[in-house]
Amino acid sequence: MIVALDTSIRYIKGVGETREKLMIKLGIHTLGDLVGYFPRAYQDRTVIKSISELIIGEIVCVRAMAADKPRLSHIRKGLDLTKLRVVDDNASLEITFFNQPFVKDAIKQGETYIFFGKISGSLLRPEMNSPIFERDLGQGDDSRQGDGSPVLRQGDGSPVLNKNQLTGRIIPVYPLTAGLSQKMLMNAVRSGLDKCADELPDVLPVSITNQYKLCKTRFAFENVHFPSSFKELDIARKRLIFEELFVLVTAMKMLREKRSDKTGRALKTPDFGKFYKAFPYKPTNAQIRAINEAAADMASGRPMNRLIQGDVGSGKTLIAAACCWMTWLSGSQSAFMAPTEILAKQHTDSLTELLHPLGMQVGLLTGSMTAKGKRETYEKLKSGEIDLIIGTHALISESVEFKDLALVITDEQHRFGVNQRSLLTEKGDSPHVLVMSATPIPRTLALIIYGDLDVSIVDEMPPGRQEIKTHIVDERHRSRAYEFIKKLAGEGRQVYIICPMVEDDSIENPDESNLKSVKKYYETLSREIFPDLKVELVHGKMPAKKKDAAMSAFASGDADILVATTVVEVGVDVPNAALIIIENADRFGLSQLHQLRGRVGRGRHESHCVLFRSENSGEISIERLNVMRATNDGFKIAEEDLKLRGPGDFFGSKQHGLPEMHIANFATDMLVLNQAQNAAHELLEKDPALKAPENRKLKNQIERLFELSADKMN
Ligand code: ADP
Ligand code: MG
Repeated sequence: MIVALDTSIRYIKGVGETREKLMIKLGIHTLGDLVGYFPRAYQDRTVIKSISELIIGEIVCVRAMAADKPRLSHIRKGLDLTKLRVVDDNASLEITFFNQPFVKDAIKQGETYIFFGKISGSLLRPEMNSPIFERDLGQGDDSRQGDGSPVLRQGDGSPVLNKNQLTGRIIPVYPLTAGLSQKMLMNAVRSGLDKCADELPDVLPVSITNQYKLCKTRFAFENVHFPSSFKELDIARKRLIFEELFVLVTAMKMLREKRSDKTGRALKTPDFGKFYKAFPYKPTNAQIRAINEAAADMASGRPMNRLIQGDVGSGKTLIAAACCWMTWLSGSQSAFMAPTEILAKQHTDSLTELLHPLGMQVGLLTGSMTAKGKRETYEKLKSGEIDLIIGTHALISESVEFKDLALVITDEQHRFGVNQRSLLTEKGDSPHVLVMSATPIPRTLALIIYGDLDVSIVDEMPPGRQEIKTHIVDERHRSRAYEFIKKLAGEGRQVYIICPMVEDDSIENPDESNLKSVKKYYETLSREIFPDLKVELVHGKMPAKKKDAAMSAFASGDADILVATTVVEVGVDVPNAALIIIENADRFGLSQLHQLRGRVGRGRHESHCVLFRSENSGEISIERLNVMRATNDGFKIAEEDLKLRGPGDFFGSKQHGLPEMHIANFATDMLVLNQAQNAAHELLEKDPALKAPENRKLKNQIERLFELSADKMN
């Protein structure tokens, strides 16, 4: 029977209304979603041991006979135990089931079962708690199934697996949600696969599956869920990973093609000496190098596409300013997009200070401005009165038109979506593009996100920076930490206190209860703990005016303490701040902690970062926090983060604007990624717009992926 992949999961056997709701929570709406819901891990239940071979602590299958009838005992309300002893040829094993009274009748004395679970107890008296069990299909002599029928065998002699068999095979482990069990999901996937085996999504052109020796879709889906061996699993995964990455890189290449063959404007290279004179410090060699590289791009006649990668505090803003100045000298406009209002505001202040004396008009555009303010800015942009506009994603609004936009800069670019970036560049005629990032992105990933871009690395800090001392503490150190704040404030220094609240005023919705706790903490700090100090609060959901007021109070030195959520993570610059305290530090990613830590140590004062661990932080999070103490090098930290957390978190889709990956992993699938890139390159050489019939499915998939209209892609 053939069933369309967009059939609702409601119509799948075993999925009722309740389970449908739960599955939707996991993002599974259709049959296609269901079969594309890949396991996060696998449990190897292929090894079946005899009792005397068992090792305490291992998770394994045991074949044994029920030596007695299961005994059910009611211990207290909510606790029923079912116990039995199972034996094989020369040893016995105690089995206990918790609150599974049905076991009493399900396991029959004298029958042989396979039990899968963790071995506890001692070697002399091994135990297993609440194992998964099923009748042994081999029944001892290994040639008869439980019901007496002969065991079917494959060519290599291994038994043909029953589709619903739970032991003696590799079992998928799915990410779950409360109310759904592995078994339910596994069964749903099983019937899903059986329903649509001939309809499975397959977007790879045959020439590519042949060239890269990829297995067929059906084999891939079957074995990624229910692998008959780990070898088959590898083959299946390879195909699916390849396909996912291939679609992505092909899409990104197509988005870019629009730009790359266009000619860019060749700007005149100025004498930057004049510009440097206006800057109060001596630029570092790394800054000068990056400026020269960007200037050469902008003078080349092809559109610049350059990534400036430099650790927090390395002085990337100066590089951006130099490029804006060069653009202005050529009579054109620049746009500078920042991820948050606070940051846009701060860039406006510091760039106005630097560029206005040189004769440039700098403007600001954010979503929270009044309609009148916005309208005036739109007009000034259109007439060319503003030379450099700084703003949030409000810049991509349709009302924004430029007289002549020649340079687009995005700060912390990976926070913007791919579409947002291209929307801004479309406001100019092949403008130059400069991207600034403090998160060290592995080169290969950068290539996917930004295209065939050039990279300048700012690997030198402005002189006089202090190494930040990092301390990992827990609740026992709380009062000492507060004393330390008082001492520093007494010396005229300022302090950040950061609370974990995942939010970003331009992108996400904060969680209300979280917001409450931040506010409450702020009240406690300002009223009870530091009644003599001036404490300010900022979070992403405050009205822009209040946020600005709090930020400026802190930036100008009026406030001693700034209690903040992660809105201050990127770029905020207050050189007098010498201490940052981060609550529940283990809830943050390491790279994020590094960004936060970069808020201090920006001036000449000795600076400290105090990381409060949560009460119940596990070993991994302690290990992670220790990385912070061990190094101040953002690149090393990113690497560790990637290792410890995996790219799913590190490059969460919100972080880089790419679609979410279901099976591919940017960190570990580099080899396949390379192949996919080559394949995409070859294919687009032959068929740049994917017009050939054999590429139709691929094209559809790409359009779905980015929800772009067909004309955008051409
Ligand atoms: P980034 O954006 O790379 O994190 P910023 O551009 O915000 O860093 O610069 C951080 C701080 O360093 C700012 O206060 C800036 O004025 C200062 N700074 C930048 N370049 C230099 C330099 N060459 N010498 C001294 N201070 C500098
Ligand atoms: Mg910055």
